[in-house]
Amino acid sequence: MKIETLAVHAGGERDPVSHSVAPPLHLSTNYELGAGSEMLGGYIYVRYSNPTQERLESALALLEGGETAAVFGSGVAAGAAVLQALPAGSHVIFPDDVYYQFYMMASEYLPRWGMESTIVDMSDLERVRAAVRPNTRLIWAETPSNPLLKIVDLAGVAAVAREAGASALVDNTFATPVLQRPLELDFDVVLHSTTKYMGGHGDVQGGALVFARRGPLFEAVRRIRDVQGSVASPFNSWLVLRGLRSLPCRMDRHTSNAGAVATYLASHPAVEAVHYPGLSSHPGHEVAKRQMKGFGGMLSFRLKAGADAAIAVTTRTKLFVNATSLGGPESLIEHRSSSEGPHSTTPKNLLRLSVGLENAEDLIEDLGQALA
Ligand SMILES: *Cc1c(COP(=O)(O)O)cnc(C)c1O
Repeated sequence: MKIETLAVHAGGERDPVSHSVAPPLHLSTNYELGAGSEMLGGYIYVRYSNPTQERLESALALLEGGETAAVFGSGVAAGAAVLQALPAGSHVIFPDDVYYQFYMMASEYLPRWGMESTIVDMSDLERVRAAVRPNTRLIWAETPSNPLLKIVDLAGVAAVAREAGASALVDNTFATPVLQRPLELDFDVVLHSTTKYMGGHGDVQGGALVFARRGPLFEAVRRIRDVQGSVASPFNSWLVLRGLRSLPCRMDRHTSNAGAVATYLASHPAVEAVHYPGLSSHPGHEVAKRQMKGFGGMLSFRLKAGADAAIAVTTRTKLFVNATSLGGPESLIEHRSSSEGPHSTTPKNLLRLSVGLENAEDLIEDLGQALA
């Protein structure tokens, strides 16, 4: 079955009691047990599992082509669970453009947890290979990356991980399974911030891990989630499941709008560079074309006139809202280095766009007046 069909039906099995067409939302925190404390309906307590959350997990596993999935209260909680599931003494390889909070985990927390990490430019496979150590347990990729839209060759990184005997994880938040299916390229784990495109309406926070196999890493992550309580709430699971129904439609529109905006910005005299993998000038364009079905709704661009001019643009747009996050219906503009804070290495003249679901001509007109 194709992903458009899966997205509409996954996790939508009829409820045997009510036969409701839309999935029911089970908010109960606890479930009645039998005389010997045995489960009567398969559930005990909301922190371990509940029916709404399981619908979302089965839907995500289907969409990514994995064997199983685990949902979390946020994308960073999902990532933290994987890192904490690794044995003490593990070494992890991260990309230089990794999502900022994962960079903070690598630098502040991995040492406390008895682990080490190396940060490499993952667009160069030789550097990834050179970073492998005997204790490398995980290679962590992110593509397209945030905020520079760098592209990593997923099949290449998976091969390096295999050679190293390490697991391979990719943060697939920007692409979603509609545009990129890393488990088919031999990745072990896919991470999502479901807060973004999957929720899709800017009104729910969540994270997910989808596993190619129900192996020891999955079991370890599940145990951490039970113990630490980082599970997604039933209501948030329900909202993300609802968002999945329109995900393929939305990704189509995000992608075509972003392509139009990127083309416009690339020829604008005030713009120094546009970072969008759909442009043939992008260094990762060929790899992106090979491993993605579309180039997505995120892009960033740099202004010739520098940081202050970039910040001023965020005050002049009328449709693009000056806000962080991404993946909702409204287009957003963000001065990324300000939002990342003092340790950010993002260029100061860079603006990141989450191109929304509006009409592309209206979006281009808005950017035009803001850049004038
Ligand atoms: C937002 C985001 C995260 C973190 O997710 P939260 O839901 O905010 O915790 C991780 N990776 C990427 C690429 C993101 O955009």
